[in-house]
Amino acid sequence: MDADTMLHTVLERHGLRQTAQRTAIYRCLRGSSQHPTAEQVHTAVRVKIANISLATVYKALETLVACGLPSKLAYGDEAARYDARTDDHFHTRCLRCGSVHDAAGSLPADLLSGISVNGDFRVQACRVEIIGYCGNCAA
Ligand SMILES: [Zn+2]
Ligand SMILES: [Zn+2]
Repeated sequence: MDADTMLHTVLERHGLRQTAQRTAIYRCLRGSSQHPTAEQVHTAVRVKIANISLATVYKALETLVACGLPSKLAYGDEAARYDARTDDHFHTRCLRCGSVHDAAGSLPADLLSGISVNGDFRVQACRVEIIGYCGNCAA
């Protein structure tokens, strides 16, 4: 299924309209491997929709995330990033410039076998992040 059909189907299932803004934003995410922030999406989408505001971009991104289309990668105080890939995969994140990229491969399924959590803590998932310095920053 191509990105536009997918977007249309999912929005319809949630009773939402496929607006020009939502389409442009989702296309931008699908066409990028940079895991852009809302500001970066705003900059890219303004080429197509000149008068779109950052607030509109934020709202549309949250709507798309709520529909499960992109996932949102939150990093504490830093700006969240958005990822059109929703399959399980790992990321590298540069500690200096903050760039986020996909890493290939998977970890063994029993990775967490040695970890115990508080008895009443209900585990939903486990996030693994590979942190370090990207090629530009390591130099
Ligand atoms: Zn870097
Ligand atoms: Zn990713």
